[in-house]
Amino acid sequence: MIRISKPAVILAVAMMSLHVLTAVTESSMFLTNTLIAAAPLLAGLACLWRSRKQPSVLSDKWRLMAVGLLIWAIGQGCYTYATVVYHNVQTAALPSDFWFLVYGIFVLLAVCSVGEEQDSTAILIADGAQATLAIILIYVTLFMNNHFSHRTLPASQLTSLYLGENLALAVTATVRLLAMPDGEDRYFHRAACTFAWLMILVSTPLNYLDAYVGPTNGKAVEVGWMIPFLAVVVMAFSEEGQTRTEPQERHRSWGAMMVYNASPVFFTLCVLLLGAHTAQHRPVVGFAAVVGALLIYTFRATILQTRLRQVQESLNDSERNLRLLNSKLHEQSLIDPLTQVANRRRFEQVLEVEWNRALRSGWPISVVMLDIDHFKSLNDRYGHLRGDECLTAVAQMLRRDLRRGGELLARYGGEEFVAVLPNVDADGAMLTAEAMRARVHQIGIENHGSPIGRLTISVGVCSVVPVTGLTREGLVEAADTALYRAKSAGRNRAELSDPMLPPKPEATHMPANLGAHLVEE
Ligand code: GH3
Ligand code: MG
Ligand code: MG
Repeated sequence: MIRISKPAVILAVAMMSLHVLTAVTESSMFLTNTLIAAAPLLAGLACLWRSRKQPSVLSDKWRLMAVGLLIWAIGQGCYTYATVVYHNVQTAALPSDFWFLVYGIFVLLAVCSVGEEQDSTAILIADGAQATLAIILIYVTLFMNNHFSHRTLPASQLTSLYLGENLALAVTATVRLLAMPDGEDRYFHRAACTFAWLMILVSTPLNYLDAYVGPTNGKAVEVGWMIPFLAVVVMAFSEEGQTRTEPQERHRSWGAMMVYNASPVFFTLCVLLLGAHTAQHRPVVGFAAVVGALLIYTFRATILQTRLRQVQESLNDSERNLRLLNSKLHEQSLIDPLTQVANRRRFEQVLEVEWNRALRSGWPISVVMLDIDHFKSLNDRYGHLRGDECLTAVAQMLRRDLRRGGELLARYGGEEFVAVLPNVDADGAMLTAEAMRARVHQIGIENHGSPIGRLTISVGVCSVVPVTGLTREGLVEAADTALYRAKSAGRNRAELSDPMLPPKPEATHMPANLGAHLVEE
């Protein structure tokens, strides 16, 4: 819904009433013509006012519209000067006709310009060049209509020229409006569309009346000229109601996107038509204009293509960076941030893979659980920071003993670590476990919280050749049990768990009476 500005409506009605009143009572052509000129002047100023409230691209559209309307006001000024002051009777195109046609170029540019995606100096130059071409063509059509005598266009042909221009404007504005999502941009196109259709409704009968029935200049009926412009005044001062859509809802359909992107082509098309029209009388100018319009359009399309490529390349770069970041994040999600060895999640993943491999190949797999002795006392005595340092040092130390491919050391939690040793039997695992224990003991990190005064670890080992019925969880549990056996046995030692046994097959119980039945038989 549009919240119509009441003062603007009152102003419009007042101006129109004044015109009718002047025409009827005073029959002053000067006054009525001046009032008509005031309407586009006011509309132009209203558009300029509106442009100051808008974001840059949209303000450009309102500004272009303002330029167009002010040019129409200039045209009306020229017309008043020629016909009222000099009493010229119009038999051929007047300077005012030039302005009346040129105004449309700017309104058309406002309607066709695409929006922020394509807002650049190069595009502006291309559009400006096309507008200049159109202005030259209008001048040639009006005043150099004949190759030999430079004849001015007869007034009778002006009517269809105006109709052609106004139709191009209205159709373009409508197509563009239909492809617009809601919002301020749509509001502008609604205003432009309203103006264009009102202009056709008003100008067509007035121009025909003037050309074929009798001069309308100074008559009350000419109040019609004010209607489209005063409608712009009202719309420029009115506001769109609060129907803002969320950005994700603003995605356009394929058809709407096509219209949106093809908008600049409408303008080129108009210039081409004008060029073709000019070619009838002045072939060289017409042909040059057509070639010029095509060249400018090619230039415009090349700029857009280049931009698209740039955007695509930067998108590819972002995607590559994102993938890199993602893989880094994934790696980090598998590493313990304090000790920089693998974390428990990574341990679970590796154990699953290696367990299944061992199950298929029939090779052994071992798990070694390691726990720092009297770590709580170390924390209490030396502080948590020192505790952290010791944890990291022990983790890095333990890692050095795992050099074969597939072997992994992970932090299991707290001050506990775990190692997976694929294709290593109980003897090999015990050797590694003992080497680890000895290394930590030999380094001799101070821990007066421990009876022997230095940091030590206890180790539990379990090794198995996986068979159906055994689980990897069982393997970890068995290593844990062995670890606690090492703790109970005095710490600073490695213990091997009892062999894991596959579950016994369940005895099949035969119903007693069935047995009796078999015996009987
Ligand atoms: P035991 O010899 O029986 O293993 O005794 P313990 O003191 O090592 O074992 P306990 O389970 O009683 O205490 C483990 C301590 O480890 C308790 C906790 O404060 C400490 N700890 C766990 N994670 C961290 C850590 O990330 N940093 C530090 N500084 N301490 C930790
Ligand atoms: Mg401990
Ligand atoms: Mg513990």
